[in-house]
Amino acid sequence: MVQKSPALAGRPRNDTMGCLDWFAALVCIIQYLGENSVHKVIIIGSGCAGLTAAIYAARADLNPLVLDGYEPGGQLALTTMVENFPGFPDGILGPELIENSRKQAQRFGTEFQSGAVTSVDMSRRPFTVVAGKETYETESLIIAAGASARMLGIESERHLLGHGVSTCATCDGFFFRGKDIIVVGGGDTAMEEATFLTKFAKKVTLIHRRNEFRATKIMLDRARANEKIEFLTPYVIEEVHDVNSKSVEKVRIRDTESNATSELETSGVFVAIGHDPNTKLFKGQLDMDENGYLTTHDGPKTNIEGVFAAGDVQDHHYRQAITAAGSGCMAAIEAERFLERHKG
Ligand code: NDP
Repeated sequence: MVQKSPALAGRPRNDTMGCLDWFAALVCIIQYLGENSVHKVIIIGSGCAGLTAAIYAARADLNPLVLDGYEPGGQLALTTMVENFPGFPDGILGPELIENSRKQAQRFGTEFQSGAVTSVDMSRRPFTVVAGKETYETESLIIAAGASARMLGIESERHLLGHGVSTCATCDGFFFRGKDIIVVGGGDTAMEEATFLTKFAKKVTLIHRRNEFRATKIMLDRARANEKIEFLTPYVIEEVHDVNSKSVEKVRIRDTESNATSELETSGVFVAIGHDPNTKLFKGQLDMDENGYLTTHDGPKTNIEGVFAAGDVQDHHYRQAITAAGSGCMAAIEAERFLERHKG
């Protein structure tokens, strides 16, 4: 029997070891890539709530990924001067506040991806989020997709948004001190905003497309009793002037019964015809109220463990930048605690 030399005898064994080493290394790499392709936290929405959540999550070393959505920056990106956000004694422009928050989130390692989310599967963890051609997996999810103010849908209104056309009386009422302004809508929001705006405006004309109102009796009565508010029904606004001067000077209105048109001078138009929370994607998975707002418990928790909601997507009551930011902070803290509890 020919004995193998020790060197030769050792070779097959060494080859086997080599293969095993390579195999183990490959498994490690695949595992590493797998673990690292699953995000710890994905934030849907980049308004005040989403960006605040990102700042907190990033500072907690969670490397958040923010998916921008249809309206990057949210409602603040559409407004002009913000005077009620603490820390800015001279006010700050909405887009600037958003840009600063974005930079602050980036500074601590937040990744941003543009594009709207098209589907989310929350039936098991990691959750799956599809945005455009990309599919992401994540251990936790913060939904800060906001609520979009309904608009009249006329071209001039879009051009003058933030230049005399507004969707937020609390934010912009102050700029119309002593002016004549218009509020559009027939629901509680319109009544509330019209009443609030009489604190500043000389006169508020409330324009509604029907003679009947959707608003609750108490809100309607309060508005009717206010001598600074004049009701104009049934009318719709067909045009807001003047796009060229970038300021609101007058509107063309139409009587919906006679179809007669006329013009009305004004310095501002507050569109108060409701909001639509951006929650269609989550129907059937997350609990919502009858208007589509996500319902939360214990702060930002939804009915699915590991999924949190922040900002206007779950708040139709306050709808302020500062309350959205506060709830974004709460969502990030809860996400961090959730991840800590479920650490593999
Ligand atoms: P609503 O849906 O109740 O009312 C929207 C109003 O805008 C309706 O009168 C509607 O007219 C009108 N409208 C809708 N689209 C157009 C359009 N394209 N052109 C002209 N007019 C239009 O929304 P709200 O935001 O007022 O209220 C939402 C919910 O929030 C309600 O449940 C309300 O009670 C609640 N709320 C409560 C408050 C409070 O209690 N303090 C304050 C604010 C809101 P039409 O009636 O003809 O459809």
